[in-house]
Amino acid sequence: MEDCDRGFDLEDRLGTLEERKQKRTLSPVDRVAERGYFADTANGDLPVLDSEEALVFSSNNYLGLTDDQRVQDAARQAAATVGTGSGASRVVTGDTMVHHDLERLLAETKGTERALTFSSGYAANVGTIAALDPDVIFSDEFNHASLIDGCRLAGCETAVYDHCDPASLRAELEDRADRAADDESWLIVTDSVFSADGTVAPLSTICELAEEFGAWVMVDEAHATGLYVDGGGVVQAEGLEDRVHIQMGTLSKALASQGGYVAGSNALIECLLNDARSFAFSTGLAPPAAAAASEALHLARYSDAREQLWENVAHLRDGLETMGFSIPGESQILPVIVGDQRDALTLADGLRARGIVVPAIRPPSVPEGTSRLRVAPIATHNREDVVSCLEAFRTVGTELGLL
Ligand code: PMP
Repeated sequence: MEDCDRGFDLEDRLGTLEERKQKRTLSPVDRVAERGYFADTANGDLPVLDSEEALVFSSNNYLGLTDDQRVQDAARQAAATVGTGSGASRVVTGDTMVHHDLERLLAETKGTERALTFSSGYAANVGTIAALDPDVIFSDEFNHASLIDGCRLAGCETAVYDHCDPASLRAELEDRADRAADDESWLIVTDSVFSADGTVAPLSTICELAEEFGAWVMVDEAHATGLYVDGGGVVQAEGLEDRVHIQMGTLSKALASQGGYVAGSNALIECLLNDARSFAFSTGLAPPAAAAASEALHLARYSDAREQLWENVAHLRDGLETMGFSIPGESQILPVIVGDQRDALTLADGLRARGIVVPAIRPPSVPEGTSRLRVAPIATHNREDVVSCLEAFRTVGTELGLL
C-alpha cells in the first residue's frame, strides 16, 4: 500500500504505552486484575485477593444478589431453556418471553405503561436521549458519563446547571426561555442518586420547574433501582411516576445482572423501538441476564434485602460520622471525602492491608481537592463485617492524622 501523506500517525496519536499508563488514573482496575480478583460465591461478596479474603465495601451489588441461589438458578434455567444469547437484535429474531416478563415487571415496579430493556445502561442513555432529539437539554454538572454522551450524540444545545441546585437550573431555564421558539422541546436530565457523591437529586422541585417551563424530565435511577419503596427508585419513593416522563436504570447494580432499561408511556417506548439505534442495532439482552434481573427485581420487591441494606447503611454512616468523618448525601453511598489524592490512596491502601477494599476515587472522576473513598455497604454484609470496616477506618484514619 502506498504511504499516505496526510500526516495522521496512529502511534503518535495514542502515545506510547508507558505515557498512557502514566496519564491514567484508574489504576485500581489494574491492581485488581494483576492480583486476581475472584468472587467467593460461597461467602457473599467476599472476593479473594492474593489468596487472602477481603471484604469489599464499595460494590454496586447493593442487595448482594449476585450470589443469591435463586437469582443464579433463574439465569441457569433461562440458559438451558431459551439459550445463552439472544442471537440477534430484538427487532429481528432476538425477542423472547424472558425479555417481555422482565419488561412487564419493570413497568409495574416503576408505575409506567411500559418498559424496554437495552444491552447496557450506557446504551439505554445514549440511545434514548438521541432518539428523543430535543432542542435543548438541561443537565446536572455531575451527571453520569452516559448521560453526557447522550447529550453529545443528540447534538443539541446543552445547558449544564450546578449540582442538585434548583436555583441554578431555574436560571438556565429562564435564560433560554427569553430566546426560545414556542415549539422547542426541552429535556431536563439528572441522575437520582449520584454515585461518587451519594447525593440525591431534588426531583420534586425539578418536576415543578419542568412543569413551569414545559420541559420533559428524564431520571437515571442506576444507583436507586431496587432500593426504595417496593423495589422502585427515588421516583417511587417520592411518588413522582406521573411527573417524570423517562425513568431509566441499569440491571447491573442492585439487580445483580447486566443491561439497562427505560420505563415510561406507550408513546415513549414506541419512539424508542423505532428510533433508539442502540436498541435496534444491538443484540438483545442475553436471556440469562434478563431472567437473573427479573428474579433479583422480584427479591428487591418482596424479600428483606432492602431492609438489611439500609440497616447496614445507617450503622456505617453513624460510625463514620461519630469518628469525625463528614459524609455528604443521604443515599446508600457514603463518600469519605479526604481531599488530597495521596491521602486518599494511602487511606485506601491502609484499609486494604486490613482486609477492607474501598478504592480511592480521584480526579478526573471527581473535582480536584475532593478525592474520596466511596464506601458502599451491601445487604449481605453482617454486623461483624460492618464493625471490621469501621475499626479499619478508625485505625488507619488515626495513623494518617485524618481523625
Ligand atoms: N448511569 C449511571 C448513573 C451509572 O452509574 C452507570 C454505570 N456505572 C450507567 C448509567 C451505565 O450503566 P451500565 O453499567 O449498565 O452500562
